[in-house]
Amino acid sequence: MTIKLIELHQSFQNVQQQISATCQRIGRSPNEIRLLPVTKTLTAERVEQAYQLGFQCFGENKVLEAHDKYMLLKHLPIRWMLIGHLQSNKVKFVAKFIDEFHALDSLKLAEKLNHYLTLEQRKIPVFVQVNTSNEQSKFGVKPEQALSLIEQCQQFSQINIVGLMTLAIHSQDLVEVRRCFRTLRNLRDSIQKVYPEVQRLSMGMSGDFETAIEEGATDIRIGQAIFGARALPDNHYWSEK
Ligand SMILES: *Cc1c(COP(=O)(O)O)cnc(C)c1O
Repeated sequence: MTIKLIELHQSFQNVQQQISATCQRIGRSPNEIRLLPVTKTLTAERVEQAYQLGFQCFGENKVLEAHDKYMLLKHLPIRWMLIGHLQSNKVKFVAKFIDEFHALDSLKLAEKLNHYLTLEQRKIPVFVQVNTSNEQSKFGVKPEQALSLIEQCQQFSQINIVGLMTLAIHSQDLVEVRRCFRTLRNLRDSIQKVYPEVQRLSMGMSGDFETAIEEGATDIRIGQAIFGARALPDNHYWSEK
């Protein structure tokens, strides 16, 4: 193995170790938790290294960037998860290659995605993004709107709503962060009574994944803790363009 690969292997192991330790502490099995490496801003070569270490699903939040890497790594059985906001004019494009979508936040978007997935004869798992922190800057439906969106999505044959996704408040105050995750879990629990297939909770990133696991996360999206710090602040990636 090259030095770079050995270092990456070590970072993955450290994160997996933290996941296991958290699970052990609260009596969950680490097998319930899917670690999704987030590869935004990283090169295709870096993604390939992670693939060589045994990972197949990668989270990206910009459509064009994700597509570039998809094209470069088409020869590998990699699955691309779009975890960021999707603009309506890019739906046709993503329907061709994304394998999962974590940020559904409107009926119009669901309708359009379903339409283009139908043309592509593809069906994908989808998460509804919920704004649990009540911050203006965050995408996602209000918690009280999630059930009705899921209800209306039942008519769409090509999208399977499998869970909910959130970004917790960006804060040092873990009580506030935990409150966001708990809101998502409680919402999932109540939606599950009507739609038992809505099971997954996509929540937790580098700075807060242990809290997310404690609150029931099933899919954690981790970039910097594995690949090192990104140069730009997160709001750069979460903005509209
Ligand atoms: C970038 C990003 C992450 C990962 O953040 P890290 O701080 O790198 O772990 C998770 N979720 C979304 C939606 C992101 O855009």
